[in-house]
Amino acid sequence: MPFTASVISAANWGAVPPKELPEETIPKLIIIHHTDSPNPPNAISKGTLEGGKQLARNIQRAHMETNGWNDSGHNFLNTIGGFVLEGRQGTLAAISKGHCVRSAHAGNKAANESPGIENEGNFMTHRMGTAQWNSLVELCAALCSAYNIDPDNIKGHRDFKATDCPGDWLYSQLPRLRRVVRQTLAPPSIPLKKGSKGSKVKDLQKYLKAWGFNPGSIDGVFGTNTQTSVIGFQKSKGLTADGVVEAKTWKALITSPPPQPLPSEIISLVDVCKYYQGLPAQDRALEWLQGQIPKPIMDEFAKRWRDRTSPQPTQPLTMINVCKYYDGLSYQDEALEWLEGQISQAVLEQFAQKWRS
Ligand SMILES: [Zn+2]
Repeated sequence: MPFTASVISAANWGAVPPKELPEETIPKLIIIHHTDSPNPPNAISKGTLEGGKQLARNIQRAHMETNGWNDSGHNFLNTIGGFVLEGRQGTLAAISKGHCVRSAHAGNKAANESPGIENEGNFMTHRMGTAQWNSLVELCAALCSAYNIDPDNIKGHRDFKATDCPGDWLYSQLPRLRRVVRQTLAPPSIPLKKGSKGSKVKDLQKYLKAWGFNPGSIDGVFGTNTQTSVIGFQKSKGLTADGVVEAKTWKALITSPPPQPLPSEIISLVDVCKYYQGLPAQDRALEWLQGQIPKPIMDEFAKRWRDRTSPQPTQPLTMINVCKYYDGLSYQDEALEWLEGQISQAVLEQFAQKWRS
């Protein structure tokens, strides 16, 4: 949840609507690209905000008209001026749920479920300037925090496809990027308290704001407003409310709640039986599900399930056997649908997650 980077939304840079709304995904990686466009002094954005918006519109047009995609292929654009702009529409809206949206930057189905960051320029030999590097670090740290992604999962486009992207130089800097992002997310070396100053305090203020507290201006000075916010945050998390930010409070600040289940993750029990392959994860999920169903409901389900089946009585019915002996018969489907109606949505969602893990 605490996504702290400042990103210019697609609405703000004048994006045209997507041809189709993208599905939401649960991201596991961050993928780094370059736009392969001119470097300074010929960079398209000229390092300005207006130039960055123009670049975002140019890329969207190329991706939709030339490539035939639904929208911009990437999720974020990081310009040489250090401005970050939303790419594929829906990306920013999905972050608060711990979700990304399916995009088209990586040429790889699984990798397209994770955010792709386009960096303006060509980084085969050219080195990124400070403003752009800093905004890349800030964006990656914010994404790692919002999605609970370890910085080791920051990858380059060429890890997924035969391509020069993100350029030899930028690719060679990925270990440094991971290291700096990890430092950004690390707890302060000395606890932060009233009177503390510096970039770590600035980060603290951003997190407090993202959690809905009001630390005052993001100025890197730990004053009364920041202290009040820290105490409020600590109370909300059941931590010692002393207004001092040590490792425990810091960890709570940067950790996000688990992502909400995707709409597509709510699966029907009929589909479960159809797609059952006897995989260990499937059996474990079915055993877990069975443990959530009260015995009277399991007994009634067994009656409906067995009513017209030939003898296999007396033994208690297990969900694993239900899947094994499923034949797509209409009374089986009816029994499964009845059972599904008896199980809470929350249990079904958890089951779906276990089933797919
Ligand atoms: Zn790329």
